Amino acid sequence: MRLFLAMLSHETNTFSNVPTDRAQFEARHLHYGGEIVETFRATGTCLGGMIEAAERHGARLVPSVAAAASPAGRVTREIYTHVKDRMLADLAAAGAVDGVLLDLHGAMVPEGIDDGEGDIISAVRKVVGPKVPIAVTLDFHGNLSPAMASGADLLHGYKTYPHVDMAERGAEATERLIDTIAGRLRPTSALRTPPLLPPIGSQRTAVGPMRRLYDRADEMEKDPRVISVSVFAGFPYADIPEAGLSVYVVTDGDQRLADALAEELAELAWRHRHEFVHTGLPVPAAVAKALAAEGRPIVLADMADNTGGGAAGDGTEILRELLRVGARSAVVACLWDAAAVQACVKAGVGQSLTLEVGGKVDDRHGAPLRVTGVVRTLSDGRFVHKGPMARGLPGRLGPTAVLDVNDVKVILISYRWQTLDPEMLRFVGLDPLEHKILVVKSTIHYRAAFEPIAREIIEVDAPGLSSSNLDRFAFARIRRPIFPLDPETRYP
Ligand SMILES: [Zn+2]
Repeated sequence: MRLFLAMLSHETNTFSNVPTDRAQFEARHLHYGGEIVETFRATGTCLGGMIEAAERHGARLVPSVAAAASPAGRVTREIYTHVKDRMLADLAAAGAVDGVLLDLHGAMVPEGIDDGEGDIISAVRKVVGPKVPIAVTLDFHGNLSPAMASGADLLHGYKTYPHVDMAERGAEATERLIDTIAGRLRPTSALRTPPLLPPIGSQRTAVGPMRRLYDRADEMEKDPRVISVSVFAGFPYADIPEAGLSVYVVTDGDQRLADALAEELAELAWRHRHEFVHTGLPVPAAVAKALAAEGRPIVLADMADNTGGGAAGDGTEILRELLRVGARSAVVACLWDAAAVQACVKAGVGQSLTLEVGGKVDDRHGAPLRVTGVVRTLSDGRFVHKGPMARGLPGRLGPTAVLDVNDVKVILISYRWQTLDPEMLRFVGLDPLEHKILVVKSTIHYRAAFEPIAREIIEVDAPGLSSSNLDRFAFARIRRPIFPLDPETRYP
């Protein structure tokens, strides 16, 4: 059995002015052919799970291209076309394949195309024809479209946020694809998209409205007629008509059951829609609370400056407040400012310098901040993820510096990456347990690895493009009415 394998993953924040170009993919993942298997084997990723399951079942993989970049603005036409064309050319050259495995995101918005995944899946379908099954893994933040649901036979969304089940979903998609090829399953799906736009700060799956939905979805999956149930919380910062929560149910040949279950979950989400409204603490109150808290470390979650949600990653407002009140024993992890890193490299370890850090990408993340500090550490930015997310996957932050400003240590990085692993502090010699305050630029993902070590977590409402305060955004293209932007929205 031969399975075609490809990955194209990007979460696009259309409010970002940082274009996601070829360099952004090269800084993260842009691999071809057998290199894909070498890079992702035994990692906690969808591809890791797909490779493992395919090998376990004796299926032969035909790996094509694997591309991913840190979330930012629209994917440039150049790199999108390059990856798509490569995928289609490899697929045509592969000859007869028994099935197709795609690892996509669901919230990718290339230049000139709103529904990136719908475009990819439709194009792949055209090449393989109607009979070859296509299975796709999608991020929990996917904004599902009818083109995705009708083009693929099987969609498998992550069921967790933080996303700790990526490898599991990759393996599951592979196994269900193999079952479909063998004629043991006849996937029949239903998609529902209630007018609901949850901010990402209220999407965690450990508690709250998403937990309730997944408790019910887990129950539904116990029915042997149900192949899988995915509830996508959606990605509100992609200002496209499809943005928002969606439910996708796939059954074994039972359309009525798929429709009924999808409808039930959509209504359940709708009934509890008010729980999706999120409120964080203003910056001064959050810093004061952290300073007054007992024990350490106290995590200040800079939820709105999450590069994983397309924010700049160079927000300065919490750092500014820490310095203003004279906080000590604090770490800011991690601030994206390649120019500041270069200034630190030029100064050298142990040297003092005055420079502007952060606030340089746009005017949505606070102004640049002038600081005087001592360079403690310089690094090439290479580390390995050790937390529950992406365990084993090599990380690349590019040239990295630790700048110590009166015992507030700022980790300056050159490649954008969300602070989702305490290893991003440890690898530059900072012990997270030894510090009073850890500012972590992440909305939810940090919880997987920081929650077990944090004495307390404080969710901060600082400015930024991954803010859970949706009133901060001027939506232009999203479907209206939609809750909570339009409180009077009705459904069904
Ligand atoms: Zn996600």
